[in-house]
Amino acid sequence: MSIGFTVTATDGAARAGVLRTAHGDVDTPVFMPVGTAGTVKAMTADSVRAAGARIVLGNTYHLMLRPGAERIARLGGLHRFMDWPGPILTDSGGFQVMSLSKLRKIDRDGVTFQSHIDGSSHRLTPARSIEIQHLLDSTITMALDECTPFPATPDQARESMALSMRWAALSKEAFVTRPGYGLFGIVQGGVYPDLRAESAAALGGIGFDGYAVGGLAVGEGQDMMFSVLDSTVPRLPTESPRYLMGVGTPDDLVGAVTRGIDMFDCVMPTRAGRTARAYTSRGVFNVRNARFADDGGPIDPDCACPACTRHSAAYLHHLFKAEEMLGPMLLTWHNVFYYQSLMAGLRVAIQAGRLGGHAAALRAGWMATGEDAG
Ligand SMILES: [Zn+2]
Repeated sequence: MSIGFTVTATDGAARAGVLRTAHGDVDTPVFMPVGTAGTVKAMTADSVRAAGARIVLGNTYHLMLRPGAERIARLGGLHRFMDWPGPILTDSGGFQVMSLSKLRKIDRDGVTFQSHIDGSSHRLTPARSIEIQHLLDSTITMALDECTPFPATPDQARESMALSMRWAALSKEAFVTRPGYGLFGIVQGGVYPDLRAESAAALGGIGFDGYAVGGLAVGEGQDMMFSVLDSTVPRLPTESPRYLMGVGTPDDLVGAVTRGIDMFDCVMPTRAGRTARAYTSRGVFNVRNARFADDGGPIDPDCACPACTRHSAAYLHHLFKAEEMLGPMLLTWHNVFYYQSLMAGLRVAIQAGRLGGHAAALRAGWMATGEDAG
């Protein structure tokens, strides 16, 4: 038995469930904070746990370059290294090779690239990506894929998807099955429903422990993203977890959960926390805004995080103006807490069969007083 997944309640296409892993159970739908280089930026592992997170993401590309997968393995694996005993999902490295590395050259068997850190040459193949994730002791391993660029013509998207399906099969061959560990495949195909359907069928034929939808949130816009989910999600096995990669805003999460997605990751809440942007029940705003200079109330009166229960908006405003590092730390904590609370609320609403009303209330709140902080 690899990882287990049980759907405990449904509301329309939305599901609430439990993911069972070697490193603990995770209630779904779930948002996974991104711990790029072995840390959720600006947070201790304890604060990530206290914010409600139960699973985090690690980036293969960053960790293979620095400090190196073999070194992390010698030091006891990524859980030990970053003091996160809970489940860790690692990406395959493919997306960041394409977005961060220099002089990358893709071929039928893998991708050769130069490190963005020191220019050293590296090669990532499906087998090597799976081996690296094994060395990291990743709970959930992702198959190596090529994230189809947007826009792409139907021919480009087909060729890219076919390559990803070939790599998916090679990833499956290389994966070492262990109790409580899993391997997910990634649906590609750009914005083309027929290609997405073909990709979903190919992955189902290979057989994975979960299915991700990749290649979205790359510039196609929310309407197109939801349209792709509408045609793709019904083609994924109902008994397996479904993961939408790299998404998104709170509104994206609600829309995707409504369409049957169980898992998410995104740098948005942590990156925003470092740039003074607060996600709240009343929308998103920038705490540098002058209107907070004398605001003795919390940045979100509905939030139970330490930044909101122990500090004023005026204090956070001051910390960012003075460029104190506690500003990004507190606001990251708030944003991660807010995302976790949002997902917990969605789980409760699905279990109670009132997701539609809950989603409408959330959207009304976001419209109420939030400014568009961009
Ligand atoms: Zn808060």
